[in-house]
Amino acid sequence: MMQSPLGETVSFKSWMNSRLPEMLWASLVASIFPRQDALDVFKLIASLGFKYRDKIVGPNEWDKWDLGHSSLINLPNDIFNEVIKLIQIHPFGNNALRPLLMFDSLPGKERWITHLKMEPLEGDWDIIASAIAKTLDHQSQESTDIRWLTLMFNMALGRIHFSPEMAEMTNCIVEYPNKGDMRSVRPSIRAKEMMLRPTDNALSPNWSESFWLECFEKTACVPIKISEPTPSKINKRKIYDAILEAQVTLYEHFYCTVSTTATDARHDTVFGFGFYALAVLTELLCGLNSRGIVGRLLLRCMVESKITLAYLLYKDDPGLWSKYRSFGTEQAKLALLKLEESESVPSFINESLLSQLANEDYFQEFISINLGHWCNLDLRTLAEDSNTKDDYDKFYGWASTFTHSHWSAIRGTCFTTCQNPLHRLHRFPLPQGVKVLDDSVEDGIYLVNAILSKIWQAYPSKDGLIVPVL
Ligand SMILES: [Zn+2]
Repeated sequence: MMQSPLGETVSFKSWMNSRLPEMLWASLVASIFPRQDALDVFKLIASLGFKYRDKIVGPNEWDKWDLGHSSLINLPNDIFNEVIKLIQIHPFGNNALRPLLMFDSLPGKERWITHLKMEPLEGDWDIIASAIAKTLDHQSQESTDIRWLTLMFNMALGRIHFSPEMAEMTNCIVEYPNKGDMRSVRPSIRAKEMMLRPTDNALSPNWSESFWLECFEKTACVPIKISEPTPSKINKRKIYDAILEAQVTLYEHFYCTVSTTATDARHDTVFGFGFYALAVLTELLCGLNSRGIVGRLLLRCMVESKITLAYLLYKDDPGLWSKYRSFGTEQAKLALLKLEESESVPSFINESLLSQLANEDYFQEFISINLGHWCNLDLRTLAEDSNTKDDYDKFYGWASTFTHSHWSAIRGTCFTTCQNPLHRLHRFPLPQGVKVLDDSVEDGIYLVNAILSKIWQAYPSKDGLIVPVL
């Protein structure tokens, strides 16, 4: 839908932000009255529209004829008085309306006070919270009942007319919830009610905004209880031992397959990926790394290693092995040059090591620096070509959000949701700073084993297979 030309003209109507505060009185009735009583009162209120159907002139009038708080006070006195009277007749009527007086910015508050003739009570915030909790979801039963009221009021006013082919559905709406299949009647009510609402940016935001602001200022946050992270099934000792064994095996295999002291870009690179991945896996196991942000960064590093190695082996082109190697050297030279321009050296950089790396294969003066990707492609293309797209899809995208500090990573690790319904499910930072995430060790082991397996494919051993890390 968003891709069609119509997508550009989409505008939004928010139940929670705008409409729900407008229908707060109805939300309280729906929450406190037994359901059938609430529906009976809503039906009587809706039928008030019949009296005025001939008094509305011109299409611009329609939006003023609304039962929301902002409009209700501007409708003929009869309607406002009747609405309150019909609710007050019920034994729970005053209990339902009294909490409205908690709001300083309630539209027409004086008129409400005049009719109610009472003061709000201390527990009224709980009553409001309970009503909002039941109606925060625009599809809940209580919300649907309120939306049915709006629809019925507009039908009584004569704003909506149904074609004869819709007689069946129209009867179901009028006799809601006692006729027809509710799985289709309820959505039909909601869809029709939504058409009657102005878009959010056409609304006067005063009441809905101040409603949420007063709720926020006058009630406290309730942090959602974070469920205990599932205990890790990982036996770290066993994995450390397996890594050590794999390192020894890989080291021996390196010497079994090396054939020259001259630069061998293929051999160095293939084995280098293995040692690097095992080192990364060892770090992943440290402390709580595998259950934290850094675990995701390490996984991204491992999957990039796996895809790059798979691509290099798929092409197996001497020029490409050299290109991969020289790109790394160029980065060392670039960092060195930047360092010379800088007034201070970052603590993680060892200048002499950098200089050694930049000058190892050729004197750095003869190295030109290429920017961008090492082979002018992106990792996705490398994955597609090397048949590792599954790993790219499974690991790279989501792990990258952590590397780039994208919002969803920040939201998922450092924020929690407030459980106070009067705060409309807003977010606030975790008091402890960060959440314990799901364990990433198993994914790390899978990727390391896949890298080791590639190495043995490139350099088969005579005496059998690679030692996998578990
Ligand atoms: Zn809150």
